[in-house]
Amino acid sequence: MEQFVLSVDQGTTSTRAVIFNHAAESVGSSQKEHEQHFPQAGWVEHDAMEIWRNTREVIGRALADADISKHQLAAVGLTNQRETTVVWDRATGRPVHRAIVWQDIRTQGICDELARAGAAEAGESGEAGASGEAGAADYDRFKDRTGLPLTTYFAGPKIRWILDHVDGARERAEAGELLFGTMDTWLLWNLTGGKDTGIHLTDVTNASRTLLMNIDTLDWNEEICAEIGIPVPMLPQIRSSSEVYGHGDSRSLVMDVPLAGILGDQHAATFGQACFEPGQGKNTYGTGNFMLMNTGADIVRDERGLLTTVAYQLGGADPVYALEGSIAVTGSLIQWLRDNLGIISDAAESETRAKRVQDTGGCFIVPAFSGLFAPYWRPEARGVFVGLTRYVNADHICRAALEAVAFQSGEVVESMNASAAAELEELKVDGGMVVNETLMQLQADILGVDVVRPKVIETTALGAAYAAGIAVGFWDGTEDVVANWSEDRRWVPTWDQQERTRRMKQWRKAVTRSFDWIE
Ligand code: ADP
Repeated sequence: MEQFVLSVDQGTTSTRAVIFNHAAESVGSSQKEHEQHFPQAGWVEHDAMEIWRNTREVIGRALADADISKHQLAAVGLTNQRETTVVWDRATGRPVHRAIVWQDIRTQGICDELARAGAAEAGESGEAGASGEAGAADYDRFKDRTGLPLTTYFAGPKIRWILDHVDGARERAEAGELLFGTMDTWLLWNLTGGKDTGIHLTDVTNASRTLLMNIDTLDWNEEICAEIGIPVPMLPQIRSSSEVYGHGDSRSLVMDVPLAGILGDQHAATFGQACFEPGQGKNTYGTGNFMLMNTGADIVRDERGLLTTVAYQLGGADPVYALEGSIAVTGSLIQWLRDNLGIISDAAESETRAKRVQDTGGCFIVPAFSGLFAPYWRPEARGVFVGLTRYVNADHICRAALEAVAFQSGEVVESMNASAAAELEELKVDGGMVVNETLMQLQADILGVDVVRPKVIETTALGAAYAAGIAVGFWDGTEDVVANWSEDRRWVPTWDQQERTRRMKQWRKAVTRSFDWIE
């Protein structure tokens, strides 16, 4: 009987199940959106139970869509929205709070307090460059150890918030009664039997986004856990991205199937795009944009707003590292035009409208809805429209939104080029927005390099399928991934260098207008 690999892609807006055959073609899939809860400005929550229900539903539907049974599954791979934090009760399997989503900025106060404590400590110990004076703050205090700045984006401060706000949670976490997990961990625990036999683990890529893991030794840093206030007993075991972690529980739709691959969504896309050599990178255009560039065995420490992260680790092999440029708002800007301004009725209309005009009429949108991520990391920034005149209409605004997506990625690529010694030669792209050809052309123009879209743009689901399939021998190794990758379309730059420099300069000026808005 023909065998397949099932991939579950638990994203920010929806959960997908995709079934791949040996040629890495999708033969069946299903997708379901979950509710976004916005209890206050800047807060975003998901119901982890709803996501678990949706996961089971999409697995069942994907099997039906492919017209196969679970006996034909060689392995299951998981990939997930990263950093989104669930804390649940080991005995009941119920979350103690709604999951706090990666975009949520409620932990700014916790981050400020930790940054001030870091500066005060460094001041006391007379560390060079640090200042112990009142008001000083060190947002890079964990960067050497974790590769990450101290921001609301990562899971550590989110766990701390839940423990601070749910009655008795800290004591229960210390006693090992509560468990923490990102969505990979939550789904794996449930798929392997939950409160009865659930396995509590995560992979290195997800762990590298918590602010709690040593980027070099790949284990939890107990000192940082203590400083942030996270009891170690609640943390999952850290494993590689490709190995058999366990098998589907008898009550699950994947009974006895090996669960054999876990990668954070951006790492999965990097894997699915076959970026296995240092210098190779991809940019994913989804709710936000995330560019990762493989740096091989080197842990590149960057000073230009990029994160150091683990790209993947295959079984017992050495980890492969990456530099990452994360942008919080790109596809969600298009959602905002649809849902909050109502100037488009669906995402595709952003392109129809943008194509009706030659330019933005001089208008720029800086979508700093929850501060700015890479390369600025300015939590206090807020969104701005600049350059408005009576002439500007909804078509110009749509074009400016697409330009904002491309300019933000342009700045990340500039940082990558400066940090990683090698210049990016072409950009592999994927994600929900890459169907927008106007955006892709703008991206090539702004970067001055070719933009290349592969035939399979479900690279996130595919990457996790590969990680699982390789672990069980369904695929031989990364050479199969390279062999299966093929180009669909390429966009070539049309602007000259002068035009690029001029437009980038204008964009940067617009960005400065988003700073210091909130005192
Ligand atoms: P995620 O995995 O983060 O949930 P996806 O990769 O599914 O996101 O991409 C969805 C995003 O892409 C949405 O934010 C949506 O607004 C945007 N999008 C989808 N189609 C288009 C389009 N034709 N033009 C511009 N943006 C689009």
